Amino acid sequence: MIQTDICIIGAGPVGLFAVFEAGLLKMRCHLVDALPQPGGQLSEIYPQKPIYDIPGYPTINAQELVDNLMKQIEPFKPGFTLGERVDTLERTSEGFILGTNENTSIMCKAVVIAGGLGCFEPRKPVLENLDKFEGSGVQYMVKNPEQFRDKKVVLAGGGDSALDWTIHLADIAKELTLIHRNETFRGAPDSAEKVAKLAEEGKIKLLLNTNLQKLTGNGRLKSIEVLNKQKEEASIATDYLIPLFGLSPKLGPIANWKLALDRNAIEVDTLDYSTSVPGVYAIGDINTYPGKLKLILCGFHEAALMAQSAFKLVYPDQKLSFKYTTVNGVPTL
Ligand SMILES: Cc1cc2nc3c(=O)[nH]c(=O)nc-3n(C[C@H](O)[C@H](O)[C@H](O)COP(=O)(O)OP(=O)(O)OC[C@H]3O[C@@H](n4cnc5c(N)ncnc54)[C@H](O)[C@@H]3O)c2cc1C
Repeated sequence: MIQTDICIIGAGPVGLFAVFEAGLLKMRCHLVDALPQPGGQLSEIYPQKPIYDIPGYPTINAQELVDNLMKQIEPFKPGFTLGERVDTLERTSEGFILGTNENTSIMCKAVVIAGGLGCFEPRKPVLENLDKFEGSGVQYMVKNPEQFRDKKVVLAGGGDSALDWTIHLADIAKELTLIHRNETFRGAPDSAEKVAKLAEEGKIKLLLNTNLQKLTGNGRLKSIEVLNKQKEEASIATDYLIPLFGLSPKLGPIANWKLALDRNAIEVDTLDYSTSVPGVYAIGDINTYPGKLKLILCGFHEAALMAQSAFKLVYPDQKLSFKYTTVNGVPTL
């Protein structure tokens, strides 16, 4: 069981900055995110877009901001559990125990929900027996590319993720096939060109205008039947199918934690961004209060006030005295 002072659900910009604010007050944090990388919407939706309203940066690329936040929190050595969704929140006499969909448990004294728009859930292909093969051949994200070394892999999709992973896995998988239902890709043109070149060189198989039809296997995925626009059927033997049809955010399990909600957002007290459940805070896009603006800088402010309040839960016997970083510097944990 992982033990920490504060468990932060969501490693978007606001969750990351919360580590810094908590760290200044010598509180240890562990972050959990359903995505395989930190950064939330910035890394997942618009990594290369410039942001113009981060104080002190006339312009900064979204991914660069995430990289800077990761650097800024390094001194506090936060723990990360990535690619797992927090499903359960249980109160104990000491604080809380959180549980993920992969059975990771985290014990903590305070919980900070920085869940943004919610979990990004994969859009799934409509295939009759898909659920039978989820976890035994079918998966929706690449957490560890090495898992696919010398395996037969089929990727499906036409966006940036499908193209990027095709390029990345081409040298790792034994056989790699990319299936796309259209003739052209939605993803970046230079990635589409690279994929076309890999296909020309015979390093991957590219099936355009082709749809997934049926999965077969006995307990574990063995092959995929596909159908192209000319109505020709084919069967592809494979160890893995990775459909990359995009992600859509859903509040998900957080909706079941008996927190006061208003239209899919968590109601908070703007004094310290506490929720209706004592010891549980909500900061960033996931919360709501009169005048709420879903902006990164507002989330940063909320993180600072949350940390001052959470200190009382982590160190009930200590008095908190406010100090500037210019006076105190950045402590290490
Ligand atoms: C295209 C676009 C452009 C934008 N431009 C700007 C801009 O210029 N300036 C600006 O200030 N803002 C901008 N925003 C808004 C900004 O991205 C959000 O305000 C910001 O991402 C909120 O950060 P967050 O950390 O609260 O949430 P998010 O970035 O949404 O991160 C939340 C994380 O929580 C995770 N999560 C949720 N539930 C769970 C769970 N149960 N278990 C595990 N993980 C979970 C999610 O996977 C996600 O990674 C823009 C947004 C978009 C989409």
